[in-house]
Amino acid sequence: MTEHIAKSSTETSHDLRFIFDNKFVREMPADPEMDNHRRQVLGACYSFVTPRQATAPKLVAYSAEMAKDLDLSPTDCESEQFTQVFVGNHVLPDMAPHAQCYGGHQFGNWAGQLGDGRAINLGEVVNKQGQRYCLQLKGAGETPYSRTADGLAVLRSSVREFLCSEAMFHLGIATTRALSVIETGDQVIRDMFYDGRPKAEPGAVVCRVAPSFLRLGSYEIFTSRGDIHNLKKLVDYTIETNFPHLGEPGKDTYLAWFREICDRTADMVVDWMRVGFVHGVFNTDNTSVLGLTIDYGPYGWVDDYDPNWTPNTTDATGRRYRFGAQPQIAQWNLLQMANAIYPLIDDADALRDILNEYVTFYTDKWQQMRADKLGLSEFKAEDEELNQELNKVMQLAETDMTLFYRHLADLSVENIDADNDNLLAPLLIAYYAPDGLSKDDKQAIADWLRRYLKRVQQDGVDDATRKARMNQVNPKYVLRNYLAQMAIDKAEQGNYTLVNELLDVMRRPYDEQPEFEQYAEKRPDWARNKPGCSMLSCSS
Ligand code: AMP
Ligand code: MG
Repeated sequence: MTEHIAKSSTETSHDLRFIFDNKFVREMPADPEMDNHRRQVLGACYSFVTPRQATAPKLVAYSAEMAKDLDLSPTDCESEQFTQVFVGNHVLPDMAPHAQCYGGHQFGNWAGQLGDGRAINLGEVVNKQGQRYCLQLKGAGETPYSRTADGLAVLRSSVREFLCSEAMFHLGIATTRALSVIETGDQVIRDMFYDGRPKAEPGAVVCRVAPSFLRLGSYEIFTSRGDIHNLKKLVDYTIETNFPHLGEPGKDTYLAWFREICDRTADMVVDWMRVGFVHGVFNTDNTSVLGLTIDYGPYGWVDDYDPNWTPNTTDATGRRYRFGAQPQIAQWNLLQMANAIYPLIDDADALRDILNEYVTFYTDKWQQMRADKLGLSEFKAEDEELNQELNKVMQLAETDMTLFYRHLADLSVENIDADNDNLLAPLLIAYYAPDGLSKDDKQAIADWLRRYLKRVQQDGVDDATRKARMNQVNPKYVLRNYLAQMAIDKAEQGNYTLVNELLDVMRRPYDEQPEFEQYAEKRPDWARNKPGCSMLSCSS
């Protein structure tokens, strides 16, 4: 490993120090073409590219936890040099900025070469603990993969990505991270709803961080072009770098690798289902090979529970990526991955068996998650029906998913014989129109609650223990769409306090934090049909 201490020369008053080890660039084939024009890139994993210059960069926020993992202090992050480096204006000597080549299946169809159209990897840092992190700027200008777009990102989508990746991390969900969000001082033109009304918006750059940004589409692109030599190179590299415990490359290792990808993807999707996260564009180019939540675009959080909900207006007709479809979509994406690596394995049955196992992995993890959400010690066969009934009951009237589970923990088994109104009282807060609940609705909800409490009684766990258990998996605070939008509205006026305050709240999503009670409230009525709160598009 070649180790260099990178020092900056732009500023004498501050000195960001990183140890760069650009393994990917060193070991993977590079595009020999150095000119930054849009093209098909064959036989290479990446192209060298320089970030564009931002006119007047301004730090909006940084993640102290991510910074610490990169051995950066708050003083480092608040320095002018930090802003210059992480907006892309200043490239440190040992960085090797590049954009990766990948393809992908978008909305069920093979889309050919996509690639980092507006992401530029600065290089790989190894921290004091020996952990490897790729630093990537999103929105730092065009690359050979920009196709018809501009390589830029607007402040609203950058704040959304920054806050959500950190919120997911604190929820304990596998995700890429975000170090910083910085305004560029430049305007970006966006037609937010593709309705012919383009508007100038403030531009921004997020610095994303992950052990690797490789996606299923990174492998698919080589197979689609019949380039099995480079497919094998990239697969072997990934195993050696990110899955070293699997051992030497070879057919059995490839199969074990695929099994682990399926397993990690199942874990990630179960977590999404647990907290009500909808990715919104779960294409294979947006599916990480490490099982990380990646590419925060038109994602959303379920407010009133509806398995058919999608935040993505671009997907409103087919609703391919709706909340309840995510487990099946994950499996479909994994099937594309199986096809991509098939030439290295040449054993369709073995790959099919693993794909079938995904259903088992997923079901086992899903059942455990359901038991945890309900505060039960284990999932029993009869709980399947209990869950199916709950799924129906939660759709009788608009029911806030987050508040429902949080307050379900407040129910006491001692109340099992209470009348409907008393039984329901702790849960009324979860209903969008509690006064509009019909007598029949109340009866159905109360029937389910009694059934649930009976099951809790059988389980033998006391109320306090159950509540403590439930509160560890049912967050009180999630990055509700309207909260992010309120922070964006203020940030667009130059006020970053709410971005930072939400970042702070989302650090402890399972804690009560009474001082932040207002951020646990259900979506207010003004946000019901407001762009950014319930309707998002891919325009970002
Ligand atoms: P997404 O649906 O955001 O994951 O993007 C799909 C593809 O479009 C990826 O190759 C992105 O890099 C590219 N892309 C999205 N937005 C832009 C943009 N503003 N400029 C250049 N490429 C983009
Ligand atoms: Mg993407």
